[in-house]
Amino acid sequence: MTATAHAIVGGAIAAAVPDPSIGIPLAALSHPILDLIPHWDFGWGWKKKSKILLFAQTAADLSFGLVVTYFLFGRLVDNLYLTIAVFLSLIWDFLQAPYWLLGWKFAPFSTFYNVQRGMNGKIKLPWGILTQVATVGGVVLASRFFH
Ligand SMILES: [Zn+2]
Repeated sequence: MTATAHAIVGGAIAAAVPDPSIGIPLAALSHPILDLIPHWDFGWGWKKKSKILLFAQTAADLSFGLVVTYFLFGRLVDNLYLTIAVFLSLIWDFLQAPYWLLGWKFAPFSTFYNVQRGMNGKIKLPWGILTQVATVGGVVLASRFFH
């Protein structure tokens, strides 16, 4: 999924689970679970994109995601806990980025690439965005409910 979707879900988990020793592993686990849901993201067709375009899109997605996440949860959750949860909800893609952007096609980067490629559910636009909006919206609402 987009970095925005992963970051918001990581933040929502931190907001819903008061105990970081539970919330942090859950945030890390949320990434592969979300990626199973059919979606679209900027990585789609990455081989045909220039690395600069891919980097710019990914950086914009990440920045936007962090702004929205801190806007939604920054006042609800201890910021250190929130930052760790969000970082771990994204780390799978951070570890894959050198493969995409630098051509580092060796472990551990290739491992994350191969595992994630195998798990990634794909669906075309606009459905690929709508599935993310629905999933993230549902998780945020649920986190408010548990808070
Ligand atoms: Zn991923």
